[in-house]
Amino acid sequence: MQNVDAQELSKFSDLAHRWWDPESEFRPLHQINPLRLEWIDELAVLRGKNVLDVGCGGGILAEAMARRAAQVTGIDLAAKPLGVARLHALESGVDNLQYREIATEALAAEQPASFDVVTCMEMLEHVPDPSAVVRACSQLAKPGGWVFFSTLNRNPKSFLFAIVGAEYVLRLLPRGTHEYAKFIKPSELARWCRDGGLALQGSRGMEYNPLTRRYWLSQDTSVNYLVACRKPV
Ligand code: SAH
Repeated sequence: MQNVDAQELSKFSDLAHRWWDPESEFRPLHQINPLRLEWIDELAVLRGKNVLDVGCGGGILAEAMARRAAQVTGIDLAAKPLGVARLHALESGVDNLQYREIATEALAAEQPASFDVVTCMEMLEHVPDPSAVVRACSQLAKPGGWVFFSTLNRNPKSFLFAIVGAEYVLRLLPRGTHEYAKFIKPSELARWCRDGGLALQGSRGMEYNPLTRRYWLSQDTSVNYLVACRKPV
């Protein structure tokens, strides 16, 4: 049994052809991409690194990391987004980048301790057993390697902002994109990281102003947030 929800994959597959349209349903991913890329590059220094992007979708982050001169592998279990990602890399002439349709746990069994940097963004809240993905990401990182996650916090404010606000009021995302019960508290993610053998290095909140339509990183992790971990040497 794979750790995957087929309905979640079809949500992303159905929209895959619009993945690189910056005004589409994927606008939020395009907008947050420079922010998360900078934070990752600041901490882990991407140039020349062997990087894995887990749940890469159409490749917005994977391709951006490859442009920072990392050797990037993107994995996902949805075939259509991967097809879009491959085509986009080809069109943009980025060749230090490859994509594979394989489960995180399967890749961890195939090539443990292989990556300097593992990123897993906006994916854990779509998976039946996110703790198993965290463990697999840890197994995939080399000793001393970095592992980054981003997801949505679970509290009344995140329900209001991430579901009511984003899906119903502002219509930034299609209705049903997110399920409140699958949101993850930073304390829960921290425990899965520690249990998976990762040491927490830092976190950032991601905030959004609907009037200016801008995102920025902050210390407020109450809705969207990122964490950085390291695999001890
Ligand atoms: N990480 C990308 C895409 C986020 S969208 C970014 O932040 O830009 C969520 C992605 O997770 C989708 O591409 C979806 O297909 C993928 N996904 C969902 N469940 C998955 C699973 N069990 N294994 C691998 N990928 C999964």
